[in-house]
Amino acid sequence: MNDGTPESGHESRSAELLEDYLHGPGVSLRRFASVPDRESLVVRLEGSDPKAPSLLLLAHTDVVPANPDGWTRDPFAAELVDGIVWGRGAVDMLNLTASMAVALKRLVMSEFRPRGTLVYAAVADEEAAGVHGVEWLVEHEREAIATDYVITECGGARLPFGRGAPRLPIMVAEKGGAGLHIRVGGSPAHASMPFGSDNAVVKAAEVVHRLAIHRTPARIHEVWRRFVDGAGLSWPTRRVLTSARLIDRALPTLAPGVARFVHACTHTTVAPTVLRGGVKINVIADTAEVQIDIRTLPGESREDVHRMLAKAIGDLWSECEIVREIDRPATVSSVETPLYDVIAEVSAKLVPQARLVPYIFPAATDARFLRPLGVVGYGFGLMSERIPFDRFFSMFHGNDEHVDVESLRLSTELWEQVARRFLA
Ligand SMILES: [Zn+2]
Repeated sequence: MNDGTPESGHESRSAELLEDYLHGPGVSLRRFASVPDRESLVVRLEGSDPKAPSLLLLAHTDVVPANPDGWTRDPFAAELVDGIVWGRGAVDMLNLTASMAVALKRLVMSEFRPRGTLVYAAVADEEAAGVHGVEWLVEHEREAIATDYVITECGGARLPFGRGAPRLPIMVAEKGGAGLHIRVGGSPAHASMPFGSDNAVVKAAEVVHRLAIHRTPARIHEVWRRFVDGAGLSWPTRRVLTSARLIDRALPTLAPGVARFVHACTHTTVAPTVLRGGVKINVIADTAEVQIDIRTLPGESREDVHRMLAKAIGDLWSECEIVREIDRPATVSSVETPLYDVIAEVSAKLVPQARLVPYIFPAATDARFLRPLGVVGYGFGLMSERIPFDRFFSMFHGNDEHVDVESLRLSTELWEQVARRFLA
């Protein structure tokens, strides 16, 4: 369980278990750790043709904490009841970590000798920005996870709307992260005489308020357009959802969960999330800090973000000192690739007539570290009809996370068949 501290996670236990399970003829297994007890396992099935494209199945082994008070079952007992496995990580993403391992095991047992290399990485620390996982591997052991293509989490659950054939969203792009910690200063004084004082807490509150009421403009990215066009919606709905001019007016008419998703996919979002300041009730605050979560659309730079903040915060922007800043641009992969076609073919076989619908993920996965290296990255997996897209995402980091055995079976089949077709 990864609570964000370096001492948590304990992913080595999973790395060890998976290593025991996966060792076999022709398989190379290596464990890497940036700090003790936080190992990532990398398994390679070397291809016979160095020029053939390689594929990385990228899974994380950590999960976020769970408060048992909100659960009907023990979040860490992995109970299997009526074809459903209950527990933290059931959809984020131990379902895929496990099904990828089972598929790889089957391939190894069948003496599958691919032309292109197959890599399976069960990595630490995805839930705390990948610092001890993929970010570290890319920095220090890049060769170990070198690949042309990667598949990781966040796709494959059916869209709960649209008529006709099942539509399976596949994540092909992720928004960027441009979060900021800013500090505002003031002058300490006795709080009994506040008139005309320079109070950092008051200024920080005003900064937060201005950010909260600021409206970033809508922007329709190519991937969003493809998503809307492929989602099986009516023509008027498609028109509204792909118009930067109309979309903002439509947002209040949508169901809250849908509106949140639509807004996030079409806007750079700004969410002040942490506010700290002052030292004592009777002292005018001389410092306060605001942390702002910012997610950018593809094509937006750090300079664009600063310009947007300056506009939103107005005259107080000059008093804001940036003390920490994340600068990770959005990443996008093409849908015109041989892997995309293979995933589409195999999915349509396993889920009759299913069609892929590409989408942009408003948050982040480990694929974001690889796309900038020229790797094509998708988020996928197959879910049964018991777990549609909205249900799927509502369980991420939520209570009563669960997955049905049928989804595990479908995903296992998917990985095995995709590997056989794509790497053959
Ligand atoms: Zn995850």
